[in-house]
Amino acid sequence: MDITPIASSSSGNAYLISDGVTILLIEAGVKLEKIQEKIDLTSIKACLITHEHGDHAKYAKQIARWIPIYSSKGTFDCLDFGVYNYQKNILKLSKMETIGSFKVIPIKAFHDAKEPFAYLLKSTITNETLIFATDTYYIRNTFDALDYIMIECNYDESILENRYENGDVTKAQYKRLISSHMSLESCIKFLKANDLSKLKEVYLMHLSDKNSNEQMFKRAIQEITGAMVVVCQK
Ligand SMILES: [Zn+2]
Ligand SMILES: [Zn+2]
Repeated sequence: MDITPIASSSSGNAYLISDGVTILLIEAGVKLEKIQEKIDLTSIKACLITHEHGDHAKYAKQIARWIPIYSSKGTFDCLDFGVYNYQKNILKLSKMETIGSFKVIPIKAFHDAKEPFAYLLKSTITNETLIFATDTYYIRNTFDALDYIMIECNYDESILENRYENGDVTKAQYKRLISSHMSLESCIKFLKANDLSKLKEVYLMHLSDKNSNEQMFKRAIQEITGAMVVVCQK
């Protein structure tokens, strides 16, 4: 598969996934122009959205002018597409949907959103499997023979705790972060719980501006997985 991160942070998210036959856009958190810099919108088969927060869904209505959107019912309940409502395609937890040459399975995510999903993608062309999980403090499922892992690595627990103790992070911010976003430590636990024998590439997503350390995160994940690690940029 070919993975192109367009943007990745609490300011906006969008990622392109291609298996050579079907191109999927994951997330609609950046302006159309930014996506068009990378690709002609009409060549995208569908857009998957994980949840309704602006950094993932702010531009969903505009994208729906061109591309069908797939997400949970709970997410769609929070998004009004107006005349483009017909572009909404509801996915159900654990129920496989075929989109072009991809099989897509929604996975439960744990986040302060209505019905957030992670996605397991399987290409019928390359026979490869990819997990996409962001804005979730935990992933309950484990998976066999993942080829690609795209995972949130938002903060380091000790950096966050230090900033909380220094008063740079409020109690409310601290409590929200630990119950809605994935730490480096949780990311490592997830990786260790999974079958990494086929793993080719890891993409670290949605790093916090102030509670993360890009180089340290990259090294830590490289050591554990032995795979190529890409830190998705803002
Ligand atoms: Zn987010
Ligand atoms: Zn969110």
